[in-house]
Amino acid sequence: MRVVATAPAKINLTLDMVGRREDGYHLVRTVLQGLSLRESVTVWEEKEPGVRLSVVGAAVPADERNTAWKAAAVFRRETGHALPGLGIRVHKRVPVGAGLAGGSADAAAVLAALDRLAGTHLRTDELCGLGAQVGADVPFCLLGGTAVGTGTGTILSPLPDLPDCWVAVAKPPESISTAEAYRRIDGAPDLPVSRSAAMEAAVCSGDLTAVGRELSNAFDAVTALSGVEEIKRVMRAHRTLGCQMTGSGSAVFGLFDDRADAERCVQALRVRWADAFLCRPDPAGARVEG
Ligand code: ATP
Repeated sequence: MRVVATAPAKINLTLDMVGRREDGYHLVRTVLQGLSLRESVTVWEEKEPGVRLSVVGAAVPADERNTAWKAAAVFRRETGHALPGLGIRVHKRVPVGAGLAGGSADAAAVLAALDRLAGTHLRTDELCGLGAQVGADVPFCLLGGTAVGTGTGTILSPLPDLPDCWVAVAKPPESISTAEAYRRIDGAPDLPVSRSAAMEAAVCSGDLTAVGRELSNAFDAVTALSGVEEIKRVMRAHRTLGCQMTGSGSAVFGLFDDRADAERCVQALRVRWADAFLCRPDPAGARVEG
């Protein structure tokens, strides 16, 4: 049996640093939104023992360093389902190193696919527990929709869906690792004032204009990646309700209530940046397709 599963990329509507754990991990408060830009994986049993992983669409390592591989290893270890021979094909659509959680979406999709393949019928919270062992964004990619993330981002509280809107996303070529982005946070004299509570209120009241106004991201304020401000200028010229970098970058998103504005914006972005997408908020988390 071949199982195809998909999982959403995410954007951070807010991303505040609220403290440090004793082990040095940053504690955050973030409002996350899943996008219709989704990763897709195909998983099947193989006769030969071991994991055979292939990745289509991006140059990322297809071995034990890959989040899809890590998710399979965690699933086998924690559920006791040996699945001795496993084939995994990852179809990447989400740009790498973008702050869009593409690697986390791959891991989430693999967990959803293996749950079906092995017939384990795990609850979402159980899958999230496995996902958190792979990466902080994996539980959100499993859950999807709109949610507040606390702790290292893995403790999730769902929020109401965003009102219907369009999301333009573009990634400039330059990006930095999440570890380097946190180093820049640690070296910054000031971070933006937390806007997560105001954002949560805006989401709960279904006020898209307020959502656009309350966008904030501590990384956006300190990383100064080249291309980010130019992308924002294009988005503002097309009447975005608000735009900013997602996660540790370098992708930038802009919210639009008008479809034609959003389409024209993405066309204008594509002239300069190949990684430009028109998306919508997606209420669905990782799921098996077909
Ligand atoms: P996040 O918002 O979760 O930090 P990101 O968009 O910044 O996500 P990814 O593209 O998910 O970052 O991952 C970037 C790094 O992870 C790269 O160094 C890449 O080699 C490694 N990686 C491992 N597995 C994957 C995968 N399945 N897809 C993409 N990158 C992967």
